[in-house]
Amino acid sequence: MARRVRTRIAPSPTGFLHLGTARTALFSWAFARHFGGDFILRIEDTDVARSTQQAVDQIIAAMRWLRLDYEEGPFYQMQRLERYRAVIVGMLAAGTAYHCYCQPDELEVMREAQRARGDKPRYDGRWRPESGKQLPPVPTALQPVVRFRNPQDGEVTWQDLVKGPITISNRELDDLIIARPDGTPTYNFCVVVDDWDMQISHVIRGDDHVNNTPRQINILRALGAELPEYGHVPMILGPDGDKLSKRHGAVSVMQYEEAGYLPDAMVNYLSRLGWSHGDDELFNRAQLVQWFDGHHLAKSPAQWDAAKLNWVNAQCLKAMQDDALATLVAVQLQRLGVAQPDERLPGICALFKDRCDTTVALAQWAVAFYADVHPQPGELAKHVTVLVQPALQLLHEKLAFCAWDKAGIAASIKEVLSQTGLKMPQLAMAVRVLVLGTSQTPALDAVLALCQRDTVLQRLGLAAH
Ligand code: GLU
Repeated sequence: MARRVRTRIAPSPTGFLHLGTARTALFSWAFARHFGGDFILRIEDTDVARSTQQAVDQIIAAMRWLRLDYEEGPFYQMQRLERYRAVIVGMLAAGTAYHCYCQPDELEVMREAQRARGDKPRYDGRWRPESGKQLPPVPTALQPVVRFRNPQDGEVTWQDLVKGPITISNRELDDLIIARPDGTPTYNFCVVVDDWDMQISHVIRGDDHVNNTPRQINILRALGAELPEYGHVPMILGPDGDKLSKRHGAVSVMQYEEAGYLPDAMVNYLSRLGWSHGDDELFNRAQLVQWFDGHHLAKSPAQWDAAKLNWVNAQCLKAMQDDALATLVAVQLQRLGVAQPDERLPGICALFKDRCDTTVALAQWAVAFYADVHPQPGELAKHVTVLVQPALQLLHEKLAFCAWDKAGIAASIKEVLSQTGLKMPQLAMAVRVLVLGTSQTPALDAVLALCQRDTVLQRLGLAAH
């Protein structure tokens, strides 16, 4: 029977959830969902000096925001130290690992000599037990490291889900240190034990880990563990072709939440970085899960394209129900200091969403309906002219008594135009600047109908002074 699909994301909590890690998480999640398997969150926190609880919280918040739900975890490596120690004890007993008492200065001398001979610096195996070999005398006052007894001949080959077959000669691989002198296990070793214990069937991760894979495979083999399959996804590049980093703008997932991006748009856009399904650009989670079977992962790195993300976000935004959108815009409004949006907000969203890429842009429009506006003096001078003043006064009078809906307002505007002989744009621009603070808005009657009558009268009244 085929193995149950179990994937994981294993971030190190040394900072926020990076877009690249989020994309790997997304691929692992979608792959598990596609095959009806399990997705696991594992926190790789053994770098105690750099790991923080705040980073853990941020990672979990970002996973929740993107709705990448996991069946198991979060598991914390720091809570599994006993388990790693037990595995090391077993390996020492089985002879697949051994104590090495080489000190850093000794290793340095060794490497210097190798470099001088033109060889690649590597551990020379002086503490590696071999039959018939005399090991150096064990120094009494020193704590040893534990090294993995890597096979010396042959090669490691795996069929990478992304890169195809990869082969590394065992001669390229040192006897890796798996425990430090104080007994703490090292990075590659913890990953191996975790993937084994968590019965991970497919490891999907960034291709910065390709070099770790042959080492991990050898250790898994020594443990008699079933090997997972591996897929190494190329890095995401910035527009200049360098690895995507802070230098290129926001790289933390939650910064995109703050900037008004929708989780569904992020999932849609991120999944297209290094994966494709024909020419499809816009799709939902269910389609992603249906299509994501581990094929069509790109061998070459994808480039971050902020304009495309904005486009995807704008499409998702337009497709959203206005009530749901209003809930998100309300959060952004709070950040802009508007605490209490009301029942008008879904209508405001409906009216403005076509011209917005993000919920922040929508909230910036909505602010005018809830807080004072501050038209630019230049705009006022340009549109609220002496010629238009009488019409504004007339409109003020009519709007004070008309039915407060789109039709009533439209009728009032029409009457003013016919009585004053002004053209619609002349009047409309002036009203827009006064009421919304800008001359570029959707249809005036629709905009005014969403304002409160008192607010409109008060803002039009200002023109008279
Ligand atoms: N902790 C590693 C990272 O954040 C991931 C290791 C793995 O996926 O095997 O890059």
